[in-house]
Amino acid sequence: MGSDFKKFIPYGRQEISGDDIKAVVDVLGSDWLTTGPKVKEFEDLIVSYTGALFGVAVSSGTAALHSAMYALGIGVGDEVIVPSITFAATANCVVYQNGTPVFADVDPETLLIDPADIEKRISPRTKAIIAVDYAGQPCDWDALRSLADKYGLFLVDDACHAIGAEYKGRRLGVFADITVFSFHPVKHITTGEGGMAVTDNEELAARMRSFRNHGITTVPAQRDSAGTWFYEMVDLGYNYRITDIQCALGISQLKRLHGWIENRNSLAVFYDSFFLAEEEISPLKKFSCNIHARHLYVVRIKDGKRDAVFKKMREAEIGVNVHYIPVYLHPFYRNRFGTSPGICPNAETSYQEILTLPLFPSLLYDQVEYVAEVLKKIVKDS
Ligand SMILES: *Cc1c(COP(=O)(O)O)cnc(C)c1O
Repeated sequence: MGSDFKKFIPYGRQEISGDDIKAVVDVLGSDWLTTGPKVKEFEDLIVSYTGALFGVAVSSGTAALHSAMYALGIGVGDEVIVPSITFAATANCVVYQNGTPVFADVDPETLLIDPADIEKRISPRTKAIIAVDYAGQPCDWDALRSLADKYGLFLVDDACHAIGAEYKGRRLGVFADITVFSFHPVKHITTGEGGMAVTDNEELAARMRSFRNHGITTVPAQRDSAGTWFYEMVDLGYNYRITDIQCALGISQLKRLHGWIENRNSLAVFYDSFFLAEEEISPLKKFSCNIHARHLYVVRIKDGKRDAVFKKMREAEIGVNVHYIPVYLHPFYRNRFGTSPGICPNAETSYQEILTLPLFPSLLYDQVEYVAEVLKKIVKDS
């Protein structure tokens, strides 16, 4: 990047190496393009990385969330509690199954779903909770597990921000009934598009496997080895398959995940150091007992200045962003479920203040310093 490191800096970007490219090209010359040995190999690697027992790789993180809702039997009349500050897919997956997402508020210091607020929103129709490890920081999984057990609810971890994060010494993947990862290019490791659901429950894994393949009970390789043409479609599923081409990329990327999480954490600590004395810029709180995966670096901009600061940062060629608009304020949710402002006050106040700064493994320390200094100046002048 050299001297032009101040040219447009995006908020996130993928890292593709020569080895990644070779891994993909090798698959193109093999017998399998779609579901072949690389899918299973990638699933096995993520399973051993996370410590979960079963992995089901699919075409996106959203497809993995949908598969999870299907596997848990979410349907008409069922309510699923979701955080208000998240990407829309966390709630959309409930709607795909004709369930109703119920939005819970977040802790204003971390933007993680607030277990006390979840409890207030539990009704006789509640079937599950989906929690998001926002920005890469693990939720309070002990509190969520006791709530789920107390009310007999399923627990889903939308860990699309947080592969590799650790809660009390163990990696995410083992705290919920199903944990979901995304391999979109802006996330920690990529397959282009792709996702995976991991679980310790063999039956849930089998249901998700069938769901990604039209609701058919066997895959072609199993039919071939049984020497039979017979298969049955037992339920309505989708084509949510991921390809061997994509999984080869994921396998190659996974080797660098650990180092990338370390880079992201060092860069985040460096950002923090510039804001210690700033009253109008405050990074979100991090719990020191856990390992944060640092998908996003988010600060709050005080005194109603966020919108002006956002505009000036973009004018300065710095790719800031806002994660996220409270999901229930989107027109689709207002029209379909009658949601409106006032449902989650912490989410709405936070939404007015948050700003995501650039963070990705190859971001330079000089760039962090540059972004932080430009931000400080813009905030002061706004
Ligand atoms: C990225 C993301 C998803 C969806 O993942 P895709 O792979 O893009 O479908 C779901 N939930 C959260 C919190 C995400 O950040």
